[in-house]
Amino acid sequence: MRSISILGATGSIGASTLDLIRRDPENWRVVALTANGNAAELATLAREFAAEIAVIADEARLPELREALAGSGVEAAAGAGALTEAAARRADITIAAIVGCAGLAPTMAAIEQGGIVGLANKEALVSAGDVMTAAVARHGATLLPVDSEHNAIFQCLAGNDITDVRMITLTASGGPFRDWSFEQLKNATPAQAIKHPNWDMGAKISVDSATMMNKGLELIEACHLFPVGLDRLRIIVHPQSIVHSMVEYRDGSTLAQLGPSDMRVPIASTLAWPQRMDTPCEPLDLAAIGALTFRAPDEERFPATRLARWAARAGGAAPTVLNAANEVAVAAFLDGRIAFTRIAEHVEDVLSCYAPDAPASLDDVIAVDAEARVQARARLTTESAAID
Ligand code: NDP
Repeated sequence: MRSISILGATGSIGASTLDLIRRDPENWRVVALTANGNAAELATLAREFAAEIAVIADEARLPELREALAGSGVEAAAGAGALTEAAARRADITIAAIVGCAGLAPTMAAIEQGGIVGLANKEALVSAGDVMTAAVARHGATLLPVDSEHNAIFQCLAGNDITDVRMITLTASGGPFRDWSFEQLKNATPAQAIKHPNWDMGAKISVDSATMMNKGLELIEACHLFPVGLDRLRIIVHPQSIVHSMVEYRDGSTLAQLGPSDMRVPIASTLAWPQRMDTPCEPLDLAAIGALTFRAPDEERFPATRLARWAARAGGAAPTVLNAANEVAVAAFLDGRIAFTRIAEHVEDVLSCYAPDAPASLDDVIAVDAEARVQARARLTTESAAID
């Protein structure tokens, strides 16, 4: 029996992870489950999986969580400190699936206890970069990529020498707007943006997928996970989302990982690593799919990947600032305060006005992230005032 904690248990990745655990309950013991504000769902899950502790980030929801867990034997706690303490409890594997930089401190706490961390929360690695990878090495933790592209690359690298890699290709679906003109993009609504053609995901990553910032964040994530150098990482649009990424070696061989567009596949690969486990996913029917197509990304209509590549090359605090500005801009778009095309423009504005020193510790990353958000919000306020 293995123990598991799931940070962000009530989200899309959390649900997919728990779906796999539910099918194999004798082999798993649940330590911590966490959520932000959804106390009712968290309590239901904590009861079902007999978790040791359930933590809600929003302290105002603690009475609700306590009441829903009364008599269950599950501990209830709330707040950022409790989240980090729960993540620090010993577990064989932690799935880091909080959305955004809010997941950074708990993910670092899980890394510091030295077990396996399955990383879905890409924003944490983008923001903390070298600080996180240094912590992984220092604490002897194992960071396994849950993100489907990075999980694919990880699988394609198995048994090979990374120095033999000529090119790593991250595939991108292109999102719901991949064929839209710039004029159409200006009027894209939140409801349209969160309706991804291939994947069923949380709202923030769905918007990132629509702007292609998701691929930009993944490019930075890949730089840290697979240190082949930025020039050996490229992005290709593959609308069918069947090939999840590829690795080309110096002898001209390209290895690709294919699978259905279902996050339970990379999550299963992470949970069972280095072995395999069953999933309920339908096998690929390539004859029915018929054709797999590929095309170059269009950075005129979707400048986010250009910005992310710039930030990756600049290094230091630039990826932290890029991520924070993007989180603020995506939230503003989802609230109907800015147009879809303003998201990338806004990120570029913030990157050009705020260039702090490289963060050297977790506290530095958190401070840069916080200040970048202040700057990003201030610029949005000025913008709204100018529009009014
Ligand atoms: P969701 O929005 O579906 O879920 C997010 C989870 O994080 C929820 O449990 C939510 O709690 C919790 N949460 C949100 N904000 C906070 C906060 N401030 N503090 C603590 N917990 C918080 O997101 P996804 O599952 O789609 O994505 C999670 C992560 O995985 C993201 O980083 C995303 O980029 C990455 N990822 C997701 C994929 C997918 O297919 N969904 C694919 C690859 C990567 P509550 O429910 O209470 O709000």
